[in-house]
Amino acid sequence: MKEKDDLRRILNRIDGRGYKAYKDIRGRWAFPDFALIIDHVQGDPFAAPSRLRAVVPSGVTGLPRRVSAPEPRAVGVACLLARRFRREADRLGKSRGSGKSGRIGIAAPGQEVLEQTAVRVEEDGAVEVRFTAGLPARGRKVMGRQAEELLCETVPEVVATSVFASAYDEEELVRHALVNEDAEALRASLEPLGLVAFVADGSVLPRRTGVDDRPLEGPQVVPFESPDPLRVEVELPNAGVVTGMGIPRGITLVVGGGYHGKSTLLRGVEQGVYNHRPGDGREQVVSDPAAVKIRAEDGRAVTGVDISPFIGDLPGGVSTRDFSTENASGSTSQAAGTMEAVEAGARVLLVDEDTAATNFMIRDRRMQALVPREREPITPFIDRIRELHREHGVSSILVLGGSGDYLDVADTVLAMTDYTPSDVTETAQTVARDFPTGRVAETPGPVGSPPRRIPAARSVDPSKGKRSVNVKVRDEDGILFGAEEIDLQAVDQIVSRPQLRAVSEALVLARRRFMDGKASIPEILDRVMEALDREGLDVLSDRKPGDLARFRRHELAAALNRLRALEIRSD
Ligand code: ADP
Ligand code: MG
Repeated sequence: MKEKDDLRRILNRIDGRGYKAYKDIRGRWAFPDFALIIDHVQGDPFAAPSRLRAVVPSGVTGLPRRVSAPEPRAVGVACLLARRFRREADRLGKSRGSGKSGRIGIAAPGQEVLEQTAVRVEEDGAVEVRFTAGLPARGRKVMGRQAEELLCETVPEVVATSVFASAYDEEELVRHALVNEDAEALRASLEPLGLVAFVADGSVLPRRTGVDDRPLEGPQVVPFESPDPLRVEVELPNAGVVTGMGIPRGITLVVGGGYHGKSTLLRGVEQGVYNHRPGDGREQVVSDPAAVKIRAEDGRAVTGVDISPFIGDLPGGVSTRDFSTENASGSTSQAAGTMEAVEAGARVLLVDEDTAATNFMIRDRRMQALVPREREPITPFIDRIRELHREHGVSSILVLGGSGDYLDVADTVLAMTDYTPSDVTETAQTVARDFPTGRVAETPGPVGSPPRRIPAARSVDPSKGKRSVNVKVRDEDGILFGAEEIDLQAVDQIVSRPQLRAVSEALVLARRRFMDGKASIPEILDRVMEALDREGLDVLSDRKPGDLARFRRHELAAALNRLRALEIRSD
């Protein structure tokens, strides 16, 4: 096998030559401690940087077995290693010439802990790191000596200081492993306890800012404290017994004055579908893996969705059983989002009045008197919410400050005061009795089972011009897919760029392998998720990318459903 010294020789030989000469360094190089694999060499210094891997055997990493297995432990540790790799790469990598020359990059995770391709920790403690490097150039000429320093000295140093167990306190490694394992166990305990979410006492829910996901710090932070009747104890494999608030199945309202922490609590629950790193404040905040945030999203496209349970025939006799629009209103977008979520298997709907359409949520007594039923196509959510739970097993958690009409349908009512919840279910029931709303339920017929929606493969087309796959992630808010841009700004449970990258690759995979003109959307989601479980994230690409992270079926469904070119056949 080619060795480190052979790589040095080539880099010296091509020094000063045209940039294309770098192609000679592709392949696998045996370094003393690990294998350096150069998968892709960039075409010029300004192109996307080259893609590399370091494969480090277990004997070298020295990671103890108790942090590398079982899987949830390995995933927790892999995220720690990836963040450290980023830090060390920033510290030791330096600009060496034009463009991104000399920079080492990695797709490090944020606060959430997801299976990802940047760092994978194997069961035996071996580690694979996927990263990028800007191969040094002056103008468009190879800087061989700088490349030698980068690849043969800096990279091994970054690997040693981020992947070797000796670079860490063993306690830190163990904590990242065990905290993640506990979070998995905590989520798995929800269902048997009849809960849809759990927020541990002492959790820190508020974030620094709207764009900084790290925990809020300082004396103003009020740690979470569970209210008496909802306090539950759960025994975790590592942390022992934890106490916190269990939100039961059914219909839960979060009420309270403005600025008392209602949205922050809901956001904690919404993000509780993912695990969080130690120190995040939400390590023990978990929710049902099928909890889906629903919001109004006017302007989005909707294709072939049966929104008739919420919206009857529209002006002009337009049917809503197979509803499509290029430009949904607030209420129709929320109706479509709800039906799509249920179709994809949502078991909990999360709604915040801040981002909901009022006319979708409620039609009060006075409106019922003023605008006759025949002239209002909307069946408000309040008249479906119980049926969704009873007939379809779908719970709801709603944040409401303004509409007391929902007290009639709630199973549990939480009031937030100074960021601390209390259980006011009984008082709420008294209030509901003492102040009847006088509104009449307006349910035309049952929700029923909506038709199967079958996407046409040709409409999910990732090609553009000569490129058969033209898929790019712009930022956390959108995907370029073929000739169009899918806007995912309103999909709150997409948390990172690697996750979005994986969603976009999954759309390509879904089209190529599973859209056969017979499979419905939920069946396609099943098959993609099965393929991921069976083959891992690499099923999404054969190029060994380092910037993919695990996502849920719900976010894949969200992306597919927002594709404007989508064509659906219903049966
Ligand atoms: P609401 O939805 O009830 O109007 P928010 O959840 O938006 O309130 O919270 C209002 C503000 O209080 C936000 O800036 C949030 O970061 C902050 N906040 C929320 N919970 C806490 C807490 N436990 N401790 C300190 N600040 C908090
Ligand atoms: Mg709010």
